[in-house]
Amino acid sequence: MFKAIMITKDDAGYRAELQEVDEARLPESDVTVRVAYSTLNYKDALAITGKSPVVRSFPMVPGIDFAGTVETSSHPGFKAGDAVVLNGWGVGEVHWGGLAQKVRVKGDWLIPLPAAFTPRQAMAIGTAGYTAMLCVMALERHGLKPDMGEILVTGASGGVGSVAVALLAARGYRVVASTGKAQEADYLKSLGAAEIVDRAQFSGPGKPLAKERWAGAVDTVGSHTLANVCAGTKYRGVVAACGLAQGMDFPATVAPFILRGVTLAGVDSVYCPKPERLEAWQRLARELDPARLDAITAEIALGEAIAKAPDLLAGKVRGRIVVDVNR
Ligand code: NDP
Repeated sequence: MFKAIMITKDDAGYRAELQEVDEARLPESDVTVRVAYSTLNYKDALAITGKSPVVRSFPMVPGIDFAGTVETSSHPGFKAGDAVVLNGWGVGEVHWGGLAQKVRVKGDWLIPLPAAFTPRQAMAIGTAGYTAMLCVMALERHGLKPDMGEILVTGASGGVGSVAVALLAARGYRVVASTGKAQEADYLKSLGAAEIVDRAQFSGPGKPLAKERWAGAVDTVGSHTLANVCAGTKYRGVVAACGLAQGMDFPATVAPFILRGVTLAGVDSVYCPKPERLEAWQRLARELDPARLDAITAEIALGEAIAKAPDLLAGKVRGRIVVDVNR
């Protein structure tokens, strides 16, 4: 038996509970992993609360990422004792996920735990931090360099935002952090933000074009915020869009794209090809200061993830939440 959060949907409704689960119920696949740490990502909170249709088959163990040790493997790339990490691939959505003491997944979805990180540190980064790195890589793939001007990060105090601020500042960018939490200004400055702005200036309907300010941006918020960020992006600037914390809509015009040559670069972490994942994790190992990581992270026990999920969706959580699945 192992402990897992289990999401059920039946005549009694939609609910998430901490359960003891028989190992025989693990799905068919080629690698069984003893989980050390998982995390609570925005998508996990949507799955646990049922606020969005993230979970597509029931019963489901949520948890889109985990770090742990291989217990058994029939996959040629992994053997018992290997330390591994997983992000995405529909795990926690259509395949039982990491908010559990055990998982069984396809070896093709796993990557080796980078030597620079403990399992806990890898999950302090988690899918949010790995996505932040994918955003940095997208900006740079489109030619962005630190001397081109200011970079805006929206949803800055959240998981993706916090890691994006730390990564961009460490690379020498002047980072402007947009947040709804004025009380987190010192936290964001400690991560490397040069300036803090109130997110309210981006959250309502705006003009098709605004004063050119941003050389680039990482947007975790979507909706009017993304539209306004694009409108305020400088000629030939780049915006990496990865999130929808404000909304999934995009009430924008084409003006920034056709008049200023702005690039809107979409970032998806779930089905990102393996070479790019490996590059992202290698770069995280090289570029993310472990001291900054500690400042970003809070830890909870497996059962506490259920109560924490609504707070995360309400934007009340700062940084990253690591889940110790064994306490
Ligand atoms: P968090 O909840 O940790 O952070 C989101 C932040 O967005 C909040 O902390 C808050 O920051 C801000 N925010 C919340 N609500 C609103 C609102 N109504 N209007 C404006 N800003 C708001 O989530 P994550 O950082 O883990 O994820 C951020 C987004 O990125 C999510 O939408 C998530 O689904 C998405 N994501 C996408 C991935 C992909 O593959 N594309 C992978 C990982 C995440 P503040 O108070 O500082 O403004």
